[in-house]
Amino acid sequence: MSPEPQQPAKPSFHRGSFVDELETARKDLTQKLVTGQSPSEARSASSADSLPALTLSSSGDSASSMSPSMSATPSTPPTEPTSPPEDLVADSFAFAFDIDGVLIRGGRAIPEAVEAMKVLNGKNEYGIKIPYIFLTNGGGKSEAERCRDLSKQMEIDISPSQFICGHTPMSEMATKYGTVLVVGGEGEKCRMVAESYGFKDVVTPGDIIKHNSATTPFRKLTAEELANSRERDFTDVTIDAVFVFADSRDWAGDLQIILDVAMSKGGRLGTTSETFDEGPPIYFSHSDVLWSAAHDDPRLGMGALRGIVEYTFKEVTKGKTLTTHAFGKPQIGTFEFATRLLQRWRKNEHNLDSPPETVYFVGDTPESDIRGTNNYNTQAKNDWYSILVETGIYQQGTTPTYKPRNTVPTVLDAVNHGIKREMQKKKFNGKLGLAEIEKNFKPRLNDLPNWLLSNSDCAVLSPSEERALELVVS
Ligand SMILES: [Mg+2]
Repeated sequence: MSPEPQQPAKPSFHRGSFVDELETARKDLTQKLVTGQSPSEARSASSADSLPALTLSSSGDSASSMSPSMSATPSTPPTEPTSPPEDLVADSFAFAFDIDGVLIRGGRAIPEAVEAMKVLNGKNEYGIKIPYIFLTNGGGKSEAERCRDLSKQMEIDISPSQFICGHTPMSEMATKYGTVLVVGGEGEKCRMVAESYGFKDVVTPGDIIKHNSATTPFRKLTAEELANSRERDFTDVTIDAVFVFADSRDWAGDLQIILDVAMSKGGRLGTTSETFDEGPPIYFSHSDVLWSAAHDDPRLGMGALRGIVEYTFKEVTKGKTLTTHAFGKPQIGTFEFATRLLQRWRKNEHNLDSPPETVYFVGDTPESDIRGTNNYNTQAKNDWYSILVETGIYQQGTTPTYKPRNTVPTVLDAVNHGIKREMQKKKFNGKLGLAEIEKNFKPRLNDLPNWLLSNSDCAVLSPSEERALELVVS
């Protein structure tokens, strides 16, 4: 069978009908990663013991992060990337990316992010494609709409099958509740998203204000909102749960309505519980207090509203505690959801059956991205490796609340760091054998009690500790 014609603009991937060629390609790639040479190159050359040259296509500051010695010494000028003879996919590792502050800022692509996507899609010396997914706390649009926007910004095709936003995991609760109040987002978009998830009866704050305009004294519906909101007699409606899908566009009005429901008897508007513990559950799609937007300084996010809801409930009920729930990072459930999504994506798109040994998670917010990745790593079967970038919430030179495994300037540096680390693992694999590598290069924190920090919430390896690990191995 002759190789498929090369189509750079629309990459193809391994499919079942190419099993034999896939196996040959994998053996070729494995040898190349271990020795730095393909089998044909190996026959005509004798040096096979040096690290593979790791000069990938990149620009600017990232050059130092790709030096084989891991020093700040710039490597030799980047070689021209080579196209793969056919698509080769890295099966031992994958990437997961936060979006705001990592790939996008203020609605615009961060230039290094566009380059990083090219590296992942094969524009690297090895010609390998590296599977990746996106995991953002943002939302307010359908996954398909958000992917269309991100595809334009990143100049690649991004599928909803590789995308999780803050409210995506809420889809798994669609059959659990009857009538739900959906809060946040622009116009009717979040109602439409909720209905697309399978929620059968979706109420919005606009519906409630339309029914009784005195609900929010200082908020009047616009003509468009009045037309879109649904006429309903709420004297006969029981709200079974509240879902804050996206950032509120009217904090005061939404706060009032959420509290009305929280203080009600079983979710019936117009009633007031005597014990204040009869309200329905309240879910937020994430709990980020700050996020990276177009402004120079971070802006308030949904986590701030969540805090205000809980604080105000306590004030108006004279001391009762309201417990709300949050999806999104850093919640473990969101990372479990991401694991399932990555598994399906690798299987369906790349024909990879087994899970990756390492998932590199790249984020800009220590409190959600790094905390969540580190926590999940303590219980995940594979290694979730946190990388913090300096293009969003985290500011260079400050001490992050939750410590990443590595900190780099941009997402391009993060991608290059992950690739370089994987190549070093392959190199050690050739020297030490698989058993030693499995033992030493999957730094399961539970297996390394001496390195655990006092707070298990931030039990991570520092870069110096990780360098020490590499010294042990070498
Ligand atoms: Mg972010």
